Amino acid sequence: MIKIGILSLQGDVSEHVHHTRQAMKDLSIRGDVYAVKNPDEVRELDALIIPGGESTTILKLLKEYGVDREIKNLAKKKVPIMGTCAGLILLSNLGLMDIAVSRNAFGRQRESFEVDLKILRLGKEPYHAVFIRAPVIEKTGKGVEVLAEYDNRVIMAQQGNLLAVAFHPELTSDTRLIRYFLSLRK
Ligand code: GLN
Repeated sequence: MIKIGILSLQGDVSEHVHHTRQAMKDLSIRGDVYAVKNPDEVRELDALIIPGGESTTILKLLKEYGVDREIKNLAKKKVPIMGTCAGLILLSNLGLMDIAVSRNAFGRQRESFEVDLKILRLGKEPYHAVFIRAPVIEKTGKGVEVLAEYDNRVIMAQQGNLLAVAFHPELTSDTRLIRYFLSLRK
């Protein structure tokens, strides 16, 4: 039984739970998805998703709950971790991925928008992506692979078991991205 956790300190947790359950069904993976926030819950996971929300709030709560150390341990054990939107910012702030990020990078007039992206890793069909006050990845270090760009800016990248996504896959019914993330399990 596989245990997938959605970090539930703040942000759009229930959408991720629902979307990930759908992806597991599509892949016939036996297991379940849990909203997690305590170190003991995080320690046992086979994969973790850090959702969108407000990165400063999530970071503060992460430290209060003492869960930052457990997340770093998971990363060391090569457990897949995906950060979406604010979660992407946290992958950088926690020093897990070698990326520099810029918050709210699309400016005020484009606070929220939707576009069809080409993400070859997910196949030839365009991927419909929802951006909400999204960050971008300004710099990538060695070992970081760029998986998608929009407007010449990096909005999806991978470093081994770590996946950074600037948009919100959980707000669409296309489960390709989360299925790709689940395939990173060893
Ligand atoms: N703007 C938010 C931040 O900087 C991220 C937005 C989101 O997760 N939808 O934390």
